[in-house]
This record gives sequence, C-alpha cells and structure tokens, in this order.
Amino acid sequence: MTSDQRLVLIDYARTAHAAHDTLTTLDQLAGDGDFGDNLCEGLDRVVAELEARPGEPPFAVAARVFLDEVGGTSGPLLGLLFQELARALANGDDHAEGGGEAEGGGDADDDAAWRSGIREGLAAIQRVGEAEPGDRTMVDALSPAREALEAGADAREVALAALAGAQATAALRARRGRASYVGERAVGAPDPGALGVALLFWSRAQAAG
Ligand code: ADP
Ligand code: MG
Ligand code: MG
Repeated sequence: MTSDQRLVLIDYARTAHAAHDTLTTLDQLAGDGDFGDNLCEGLDRVVAELEARPGEPPFAVAARVFLDEVGGTSGPLLGLLFQELARALANGDDHAEGGGEAEGGGDADDDAAWRSGIREGLAAIQRVGEAEPGDRTMVDALSPAREALEAGADAREVALAALAGAQATAALRARRGRASYVGERAVGAPDPGALGVALLFWSRAQAAG
C-alpha cells in the first residue's frame, strides 16, 4: 500500500466533483449527459473501497471498480487505464511503504511507473476503443500526457500537456463514441472524457506537492 497513490485518487474524486456540472454540460452537448455522474460515482466508490480495504493497491481498487461497476463508454476504458497504472506502480517503482507520507513524489521511480502505466493504458484504450488522436476522445488528453512523460516532464508539465490536449478537442469533430452522431453540435466545447482524464494528471501533480 502506498499513501501517495491513495492521495492521487482521493484528490481526483474531489476534483471530479468540482468539475461535475461542467462535465455533465459538455456530455449533454454531444452525448447523453451521464459522463459527470459516471466519473464522480465511480470515484466515490473507489474512495469508499480504499477506506474499506486499506491493504489493496489503490489503482488496483480503482481498476476493479471502473471495470466491473462503472457504466458508459468511459467506465471500462478508464478501468483499463487504472489497471495498467496499477501494474506499473506495483513493479517495485513506488516505494512509499511503512505508514509515513510519501516523500515528495515526482521522483524517478514514480515518473518511470507513470510513464509505463500511461503508455500501456493508452495502448489498451486504443486497442478496445479504436480511437486515434484527433478523434475527439480521452485519447486526445492521454496522448500528449504520454509524450510529455516520455520527454521526462515533471508531474505539473504532464498535467498541463493533458489539459492542453483536452482543450484542443474543442476544435475537433468527433469520430468516435456518441458524440460522433451529432456532427457539428459540440464543436467549440471540449470533449468531456478528455477533460475528465486530464484531471487525473492534475491530481497527481497536486499530490506530488
Ligand atoms: P457514453 O457515451 O456511453 O455515455 P460516457 O459518457 O461515459 O460514455 O463517456 C464519454 C466519453 O468517452 C467521451 O467524452 C470520450 O472521451 C470517451 N470515448 C467515447 N468513445 C471512445 C473511444 N472509442 N475511445 C476512447 N474514448 C472514447
Ligand atoms: Mg455519456
Ligand atoms: Mg451513457
């Protein structure tokens, strides 16, 4: 168990709630309006499970909840992302053991784990969802985040890259997911899934201090 992964997920739940109404409005523009609920309810369950089972690796908990219990297209796709992050973070990279606060974050081991977790998680999402960059999906936030991680960027720079990628979806017409049925209607507003996943990187940067 590592306290800093828990902090990332707890902060992600808090941040998702702060963004809930925006995410809902964005998904109403182009989809069915449930993305804010899917993300917030899923993360609330994760936080509850983290409290109920403090010994389980936090991202493994998140993966199980999102794969098994969260609806929408985004639920299982985020589940795959959490699953690969859990795998990478379990590979001895995350050393915050023994009850204390994790020191600092942003260290080389943590960066390596996130680099590999996001690379593999994005690959899994693309295998299942078949979206390419530019299709106006969460891939448009994950792909710049992966590039920033691979270039050695710190947690804050990675978060800014993800947010910029999410923001840039406002100019795109959707080619995947429900939003692809509505044509031009959502152009001008960003993709909710891209914004929602960018908040994960924001929470990682916050937890790193
Ligand atoms: P649903 O359309 O089933 O209600 P959600 O509202 O839970 O799904 O999630 C919508 C988000 O899922 C979109 O904003 C987009 O980012 C993401 N998404 C949709 N289709 C795909 C796909 N094929 N690959 C990656 N992400 C996708
Ligand atoms: Mg939806
Ligand atoms: Mg739905």
